[in-house]
Amino acid sequence: MANRIRTPQQLANTFPRLAGGPDLTSVVAKYPMAITPYYASLMRRADSSDPIFQMCVPRVQELTDPPFLMADPLEECHDMPVPGMVHRYPDRALVIATTMCSTYCRHCTRKRIAGTRETSITKRRLEQIANYLTEHPQISDVIVSGGDPLTMSTEHVEMVLSRLRQVPSVQIIRIGTRVPVVLPMRITDELCQMLRKYHPIWINTHFNHPQELTPESIAACNRLSDAGVPLGNQSVLLRGVNDSPQIIEKLCRALVRNRIRPYYLYQCDLVRGVEHFRTPVSRGMEIMEYLRGRLSGLAIPTFVVDAPHGGGKIPVLPTYVVSQSPTHTVLRNYEGMLIAYPEPQQRFDGACRTPQEDSAPGVWELTAGQYSRIQPEKTIRHSRRRPCCASDESVGDF
Ligand SMILES: *Cc1c(COP(=O)(O)O)cnc(C)c1O
Ligand code: SF4
Repeated sequence: MANRIRTPQQLANTFPRLAGGPDLTSVVAKYPMAITPYYASLMRRADSSDPIFQMCVPRVQELTDPPFLMADPLEECHDMPVPGMVHRYPDRALVIATTMCSTYCRHCTRKRIAGTRETSITKRRLEQIANYLTEHPQISDVIVSGGDPLTMSTEHVEMVLSRLRQVPSVQIIRIGTRVPVVLPMRITDELCQMLRKYHPIWINTHFNHPQELTPESIAACNRLSDAGVPLGNQSVLLRGVNDSPQIIEKLCRALVRNRIRPYYLYQCDLVRGVEHFRTPVSRGMEIMEYLRGRLSGLAIPTFVVDAPHGGGKIPVLPTYVVSQSPTHTVLRNYEGMLIAYPEPQQRFDGACRTPQEDSAPGVWELTAGQYSRIQPEKTIRHSRRRPCCASDESVGDF
């Protein structure tokens, strides 16, 4: 951490070939740079043809944004009942435990936070979060994220984990960290010994390219797995870095070989400063089309678009249902073979769907027949509509 490359001058000293390049001072002032010596050593070439270089060396393009990019596209700040904690889904919450990372990814989705001030969660804030969790026992899965929580001292990480464990309704604690990829020597035996006291602990790490799977990073992941921590991986599709079916295939095969389950493949968020990394959504579809059938299901991640406006993660995949009748569903496989799946011969009336008392209208509730519609608030047609018969309000609502 102490030897991270932090200034354009240090960068030019490490990579003399960059000395004559564009001035990065204003980029680094807006979006901090930090590169661990270890991660810098993974570069094969000090130019933008190298995936490692692209992911950690700032570029002037970061300062040019189309208008639809946002500082906080997921609107996390609107879903923060306590500062530093995002509560978006019914049963899980995300804690921003620190703003610090060992290496600042140029494609970071929390560019507004990561590295702008390097601070970690205070005892007082943690107490507020724990109180919120106690008052909301439906939250059973807490994600410790940031920044990179494993850049904190082992004592500081333990302070967070032990306080979360005191909340009886918290079942799973997940840690989101890129440390195994960019600072693998941080995964010490001491850290692993501490983590195993707070099981079940799951870790999601962030490998994007096969070149990041080195003997050191693999050894770090093995230490975590051997401490009983199941490992998942979250990758981001990045233009010119990993946006090809063959690279993702190679990455996913290498991950499962090392006991790391590919979990999510993310479409790049609409974050300011990342336009040069974005790919069309169709590229992710192509990759999913390529993977299914060719690779073990264990090695296939879910491709998701984390939707703007706080819509959350939406899985996107090619369509495998070609057609349907009450008697048959027609499916296609990855080879293009069409198969008819006969439906049960006995009429299926769905009587087993029991309405939930606390449910709000959602797509599942529509399929269960609990609600008959979800209505956009303002449509021109809707504003023109007027009651015309006594039963107007009840038609369709049952
Ligand atoms: C991604 C995310 C989660 C976890 O989602 P999973 O699909 O369970 O991995 C939880 N909260 C927030 C705010 C998230 O962005
Ligand atoms: S490690 Fe995570 S939080 Fe830190 S810069 Fe990279 S993507 Fe952002």
